[in-house]
Amino acid sequence: MRDFILGNEKVRNHLNDSIKKNTISHAYILSGDRGVGKSKIAKEFAMKLICEKHTGCGECPACRQFSANSYPDFFYMDAQGKESIGIDRIRENIVADVAIRPYHGKIKIYVIDEADKMTVGAQNALLKTIEEPPDYVVILLLVKNSSLLLETIRSRCIKLLLTAVSNERIKKWLIENGTNENIATVVASYSNGAPGIAKSMAESEDFAGVYEKNVEFLKKISEVGINDILEFIEELKKRTAGFKEFINFLRLWYRDICILKLTKKIENLVFIREESIILRLSREYTLKKINSIIDLIDETEIRLNSNVSGDTVMELLFIGLRK
Ligand SMILES: [Zn+2]
Repeated sequence: MRDFILGNEKVRNHLNDSIKKNTISHAYILSGDRGVGKSKIAKEFAMKLICEKHTGCGECPACRQFSANSYPDFFYMDAQGKESIGIDRIRENIVADVAIRPYHGKIKIYVIDEADKMTVGAQNALLKTIEEPPDYVVILLLVKNSSLLLETIRSRCIKLLLTAVSNERIKKWLIENGTNENIATVVASYSNGAPGIAKSMAESEDFAGVYEKNVEFLKKISEVGINDILEFIEELKKRTAGFKEFINFLRLWYRDICILKLTKKIENLVFIREESIILRLSREYTLKKINSIIDLIDETEIRLNSNVSGDTVMELLFIGLRK
């Protein structure tokens, strides 16, 4: 599947205009949820900045080097799977590095992904650079939640908010790129407006398998025994996406049951292929029961984010769903 950026034209136009009008800022904050396109948009901007034609032509030597990840004046870092980005990494990779003039051209670009994971010390170390950057430096901070950044940093950056892309648009794009309609409908809803998540799901070989297993389990949820539950929890743990993605799946599943109960219309269902099961369940459940299940799903998500054991939380959820 080819790489792509969907949506967020406003932000991208703003960045493009700044190149055209030569009003590029030294520091930006791009905020938005996981998979919504922060790093794609930052890289698109960077490539245009360094491109000889400022279009991100893909053909000039600078673009080609950039695409091969070997452009020397572009630096990208993230939390490397850790909880935080410490002061040492910021000092070594950025603070000490900005003083060195660019090898090529007139610009040097630093992208700090997951910048909201910088410790206070790391942010303070970066602050000086953001306050008085050499004129060739552009820093892009990519964050899920910009309120985790110090006000002193935020006030010196141009803040750009990326928003979710509509499910319809993601679905259309997936189908155009070879995903079958049934999977595309689920994936688009599942991705919650984040094209990056939709793409990696549609590309993942086991998505179809995961889908089937989830549906199989949910079909018989009212009568599963404790061993089935424990087995399914083990299965969820093996998946890279883990519990949280299953929670999204569950939410969509019960949302469909609720929609069918209230409207009797099947056009708006995500799990259109599962229509007969959804219909049966919507008859079995009272509206009150469905609402209490949706509350339970919300509570489960909150508990998963706290320090309680994930296994226990999921066990309680499934027992609650079974009743
Ligand atoms: Zn170029």
